[in-house]
Amino acid sequence: MLGAIEAGGTKFVCAVGDEQGTIIDRVQIPTTLPEETIPKVIEFFRKHPVKAIGIGSFGPIDVNRESASYGNVTSTPKVGWKDYPFVQAIKDAIPLPVGFNTDVNAAALGEATFGAAKGLDSCLYITVGTGIGAGAVVQGKLLQGLSHPEMGHILIRRHEDDPYEGKCPYHKDCLEGLAAGPAIEARWGVKGDQLVDKGEVWEMEGYYIAQALMQYIVIISPKKIILGGGVMKQRQIFPIIYKHLEKMINGYVNLPPLEEYIVSPGLGDNAGITGSLMLAHEAYEDEINREATRV
Ligand code: ADP
Ligand code: ZN
Repeated sequence: MLGAIEAGGTKFVCAVGDEQGTIIDRVQIPTTLPEETIPKVIEFFRKHPVKAIGIGSFGPIDVNRESASYGNVTSTPKVGWKDYPFVQAIKDAIPLPVGFNTDVNAAALGEATFGAAKGLDSCLYITVGTGIGAGAVVQGKLLQGLSHPEMGHILIRRHEDDPYEGKCPYHKDCLEGLAAGPAIEARWGVKGDQLVDKGEVWEMEGYYIAQALMQYIVIISPKKIILGGGVMKQRQIFPIIYKHLEKMINGYVNLPPLEEYIVSPGLGDNAGITGSLMLAHEAYEDEINREATRV
């Protein structure tokens, strides 16, 4: 059995499952302070013994193994979580191999292994929810450099009918600041799920997301693009994205038919937790290999 934690800003999902991505049991825990949330996580894994744990976490996090603060949450505004040593806290309570990556990288891995990008060595997973973030599998591996990518914070052109200043606490009108769920709510006065019939809302949203995809396509050239998160439950955004993207790309890049290329998660809301199981599997294999070389 493997363990998985999908750590989100509002809730933690903990699960046990196997390397085939089958989830056997799961629990949801509200994200409050680490002193409250983490003991409940640990209690769950004490009840369900596992051989490794994978964490897909909200970010920013430190994923650089050479770094002194590896395994920590870094600069979040979430109370109590800034500089929180996430991996260490889990390992101190349950001494097992722990895999650690962003929630969106975990989701990208889940989708590339079992979901909409199954069988491909490349995909991009983007969530449009409370924030905007993206994870990428490139040449079969999760994209990582100095740290993990932060693709939600790219700068985009403003829609000509959009006077809204933007909600990102760092950059105001970056992509996340203009197009994440809280920006939609701040601009239009109600939450996105109350705006279903307002065409102009989704026209603007699709315009912003299409610009982001244009940039990701020319930079990363993913073989599949998966759009998840609460806002993307508004399926009417997809054709608007296709329309704008087609115009923006203008034939320069040869793409598959857009309705096959840019899709919803094949694993639905399970992309992140399934990918976290894969992170656990990787951590377990790494540990075995390390031990083998030690002998
Ligand atoms: P999180 O990003 O916190 O993991 P979600 O992906 O559900 O969670 O994103 C929550 C955001 O998405 C909120 O701003 C919410 O208003 C918005 N949202 C959730 N469901 C919908 C929906 N059906 N239509 C439009 N917006 C939605
Ligand atoms: Zn930003």
